[in-house]
Amino acid sequence: MTTPVNVTVTGAAGQIGYALLFRIASGAMLGPDTPVRLRLLEIPQAVRAAEGTAMELDDCAFPLLAGIDIHDEPAAGFAGTNIALLVGARPRGPGMERADLLEANGGIFGPQGKAINDGAADDVRVLVVGNPANTNALIAAAHAPDVPAARFTAMTRLDHNRALSQVSAKAGVPVADIRRLAIWGNHSATQYPDLFHAEVGGSPGGALTADAGWLTEDFIPTVAKRGAAIIDARGASSAASAANAAIDHTRDWVLGTPEGDWTSAGVVSKGEYGVPEGLVCSFPVTSSGGEWQVVEGLEIDDFSRERIDASVAELSAERDAVRELGLV
Ligand code: NDP
Repeated sequence: MTTPVNVTVTGAAGQIGYALLFRIASGAMLGPDTPVRLRLLEIPQAVRAAEGTAMELDDCAFPLLAGIDIHDEPAAGFAGTNIALLVGARPRGPGMERADLLEANGGIFGPQGKAINDGAADDVRVLVVGNPANTNALIAAAHAPDVPAARFTAMTRLDHNRALSQVSAKAGVPVADIRRLAIWGNHSATQYPDLFHAEVGGSPGGALTADAGWLTEDFIPTVAKRGAAIIDARGASSAASAANAAIDHTRDWVLGTPEGDWTSAGVVSKGEYGVPEGLVCSFPVTSSGGEWQVVEGLEIDDFSRERIDASVAELSAERDAVRELGLV
């Protein structure tokens, strides 16, 4: 048997953690030949609940699960880790200002970035799920100067998958026959799901964009506000679909994206498409050899440009705010 891959999950006792850990242990993330050792990182008050989850993981008797450790200290939780899924975050409380939220999360993601810098394995790959995900990834990366910035990513795969599902329903085409969708910008209501380069059942996605009413009044807001619609219906935020997207993101990062297709991920901008360098921004990306590459050379029309710019402006404002707070 090959050496187990160490996977650290923060917020392991939360809703997303509960939907995520069992699938990682089953082999859904790294494949049926790769054993995993799980590190559950929690705040002290949630360690007991994490112990309960660990008992259930034991009771599944997953052949690929090489062990489970539970930690409440980032240094121990990230020591030697290969894959870090940063799920736990401080939710926005009643009356909480944006600066308070960013500061509270800076207090979580700064020390986690430092612990990853100091103790994670050389090949560590980090996915931030906890919101505000893009800026939390920026903060973590800023505290890990010895880890290449490209190893810090933010999750927009759930937005991507939501867009696939909406297009499938509209066009009456299975999701497997839809390719080259893209989510641009921030994982927030300003995100821009882009159909202009998509292929839908072998035809250009442009045919769908001709229905301007559907595109602007239905598709874009439905994808961007899907999280709120789920809270409204379910009485709790999306958890299984968020966990599924984290699995998809990490699997594609490690094992590669299919030939001829791309996906979406928040990655550190090198200035592609005019996005300021250093922002963690969602782009269309492919992966090979364990590295994301932004798909370059796409033509961006005025409709898309305006929306990408608006979301990137929000990312820049978040970066300015965390700079002012001394978090990056
Ligand atoms: P969830 O597991 O439901 O969510 C965790 C984070 O994921 C939240 O920030 C949430 O943002 C975010 N998220 C990102 N995308 C989505 C999405 N599409 N749908 C839903 N959520 C999304 O939260 P719980 O409150 O159930 O659990 C959080 C756990 O984290 C708790 O057990 C807590 O103890 C722990 N925690 C651990 C920390 C640590 O390890 N140091 C630090 C802080 C908390 P949003 O709130 O905006 O939906």
